[in-house]
Amino acid sequence: MFRSAAPMFNMTIAIFSLLLVLILTVTATPQNTDSVCIIGSGIGGSSLAHFLRQYDASSLNVKTIRMFERNGVVGGRMRTVTIAGETVEAGATVLHPKNYHFLNFTKLHKLKIKNPSSSSSGDDFFSLGIWDGHKFLFKTLGFQSSLPFVQKIVNLANSVLIFARYGLSLFRMNSFVERTVGSFLNYYKSFEERPVFETVDEMLKWAGLYNLTRRTLHEELVDAALSPLLIHELATVRTLIWFDNRK
Ligand SMILES: Cc1cc2nc3c(=O)[nH]c(=O)nc-3n(C[C@H](O)[C@H](O)[C@H](O)COP(=O)(O)OP(=O)(O)OC[C@H]3O[C@@H](n4cnc5c(N)ncnc54)[C@H](O)[C@@H]3O)c2cc1C
Repeated sequence: MFRSAAPMFNMTIAIFSLLLVLILTVTATPQNTDSVCIIGSGIGGSSLAHFLRQYDASSLNVKTIRMFERNGVVGGRMRTVTIAGETVEAGATVLHPKNYHFLNFTKLHKLKIKNPSSSSSGDDFFSLGIWDGHKFLFKTLGFQSSLPFVQKIVNLANSVLIFARYGLSLFRMNSFVERTVGSFLNYYKSFEERPVFETVDEMLKWAGLYNLTRRTLHEELVDAALSPLLIHELATVRTLIWFDNRK
């Protein structure tokens, strides 16, 4: 139900880190760079290689780009796995619409953007279930109808059920996400409006995001006055699935 800011945060950090590396590479060795080594072939490393090739034509003198990858495949945390003949996404799958860098990337490579079904029409079925490993702690109505009017009523009832469980914390969660995303948007300002960053820490501090990397999401959400139930059942679970912090 929530589109968390966390994946966008990760991906944006990856893209900004690579831009930082690119800037440092350009300023450190302007004329006679023979080869560049990139460690890791995730979206960060792969994008760096791609853009380095592009910039190379005009300003750099990179003859060789060497990419080191410890796994047998490229892609890092954006990857697919094939199970019983079915190929499924096992990493990043969702692009946040405010992740402009990544959206530009999809345009550059003429990738097709598929909108989530719930964004195309308010009549689409949505449901939510909280499973504790043994039983459902909470379930919305699972009734699905082909009649848009009926579906709207079911969806409305489900919204009421969710509100009854989580209350105003839902709105607080929303403003927390909006605030965090708002801080990110600072990075899209033009070069004239923002400094050139020497380090990632500096970059995070400038946008007011540094503290988010120094404490847990749980602490942050408690400060944002979210109820323990919402934090436990929605925010933490969602973040674990998306971030896979145990890696
Ligand atoms: C399950 C899951 C779901 C996600 N969903 C989303 C989503 O929907 N939307 C979104 O925006 N983001 C999502 N993310 C986050 C997103 O996938 C990552 O932020 C992004 O892929 C990170 O890219 P990266 O290049 O920085 O790092 P990685 O993808 O982690 O790439 C790093 C690469 O470096 C390699 N490497 C590391 N150390 C070495 C070494 N010493 N030598 C050689 N190679 C090395 C690793 O093997 C890896 O291939 C998700 C992540 C996970 C795990």
